[in-house]
Amino acid sequence: MITVDPNKICYVFDVDGTLTEPRMEMDTSLSSEFIAWTANKQCFIATGSDYSKTREQVPWYVLDCFKYVFCCMGNEVRAQFGTTVHRSSFFLPDTLKNELDSFLENTKFNLKTGNHLEMRTGMANFSIVGRNADFEQRAAYNKWDNLNGERKMMADFINQKYPELEASVGGSISIDIIKKGLDKGQVVHHLKDSGATKIVFVGDRCEEGGNDYGIIRELKKSGLAFEWYNVSGPEDTLKLIRTNKVFEGGK
Ligand SMILES: [Mg+2]
Repeated sequence: MITVDPNKICYVFDVDGTLTEPRMEMDTSLSSEFIAWTANKQCFIATGSDYSKTREQVPWYVLDCFKYVFCCMGNEVRAQFGTTVHRSSFFLPDTLKNELDSFLENTKFNLKTGNHLEMRTGMANFSIVGRNADFEQRAAYNKWDNLNGERKMMADFINQKYPELEASVGGSISIDIIKKGLDKGQVVHHLKDSGATKIVFVGDRCEEGGNDYGIIRELKKSGLAFEWYNVSGPEDTLKLIRTNKVFEGGK
């Protein structure tokens, strides 16, 4: 069960491009200032990555300053020190599994490295070249796909045939498949259902089509007090908490 203090602002941060450079570890100069800032506040993380990937990017001593980590787009919730408090289930229809197999058989891309379908908490990830591909093989597929539009074709097919699912082109070699609407916007519902009254969100892809957009969309529908900030990177985030009144900075 998730509990939040209704009398305190819920500060929610994205990871990639917000607390860290994309796919990089959090900068140590940022982490010490950030830890000091979180004292007496309630802070949360909202990320598309799973918990172990998040731990690689955000050191444990920073991660433990967050009340909850909403990972896998809110499909998995970890409390302080990593305890799992929520995990949603997700299954692909058998017909779709067969259709993914035929995509794999019929593709004109001639290299397959294995590990093509990966089930994650709340989502599936499908890749024609396969997740075992090395850097060069990934780049080769990405270049080929840009010319041939294979990933878009597969995503369109799934979205048309399975209205309850949502497929999108993700990363450089794969497509992501989720249950419709279960994107990062779930984080707003987790917080609202737990008694939150005001949410402040910081992310780097808040525009429509960006992977933080679900949060903005649901905040607007939530009836809660909220603010949101689109940042250009960790430096920008630091500037925000230093100077912006909503973050109690600039006093
Ligand atoms: Mg991001």
